[in-house]
Amino acid sequence: MKRAIISDIHSNLEAFEAVLADIASQDITEIYCLGDLVGYGPNPIECIDLMRKSVKVCLLGNHDQATLFDPEGFNHSAERAIFWTREQLENPNLLGANERWDFLNELPRLCREDDFIFVHGSPRNPLNEYVFHDDIYNERKMERLFAVIPKYSFQGHTHVPGIFTEDHEFFTPEDIDERYILGDRKVMINVGSVGQPRDRDPRACYAVLDKTLIVFRRVEYPFEKTIEKITAIPDLDNYLGQRLRDGK
Ligand code: ZN
Repeated sequence: MKRAIISDIHSNLEAFEAVLADIASQDITEIYCLGDLVGYGPNPIECIDLMRKSVKVCLLGNHDQATLFDPEGFNHSAERAIFWTREQLENPNLLGANERWDFLNELPRLCREDDFIFVHGSPRNPLNEYVFHDDIYNERKMERLFAVIPKYSFQGHTHVPGIFTEDHEFFTPEDIDERYILGDRKVMINVGSVGQPRDRDPRACYAVLDKTLIVFRRVEYPFEKTIEKITAIPDLDNYLGQRLRDGK
């Protein structure tokens, strides 16, 4: 079974469509999404609809939760984007509004399968905790995280792809030629972000899991089109477009 693991779409339809096309060009049977379907970007409705059609497993992200309930701890532009997203979803004239709302509301926070755990943030705090690459110097944090991982954890949330090992190393996809083979040591795999990459590479990012082989993929997409849409919506800060161009 060959699976695609995607995360952090953030209402970026152009990036999402490009990634789905890239997935379709391979022999992939299932797609898992680690959350943050919405927030930041201009196409929440379209992204949720496409997600419902395309994926086997979809988790709740912190932006999805904030859209459902109340945003807490977000910066001003993220918060404005969340309120705008909620307005779109609440539009009573929109066909399927209730179903879309129910879909978001029923998303699980984590998924466990054999040696794997799938989360948005971290294995011990699936929704909200960030695991950044310099956390490898925080021994206590790393030990606690690895203590709750069966063997392998797939996660997103930071929008920065890479592999954390049990012996406190971090590899960017570049460091490992975009490939990693799962073995005896426990690892956390961050699959990066489809809709708002932050590793200074503007291309959409995701990972493919083929038995024990992980391959990181980068996909070009027409981000100028997404930026134009963001610029045209007053409730979405222009900066949210600019950062797509910079990949940060
Ligand atoms: Zn996110």
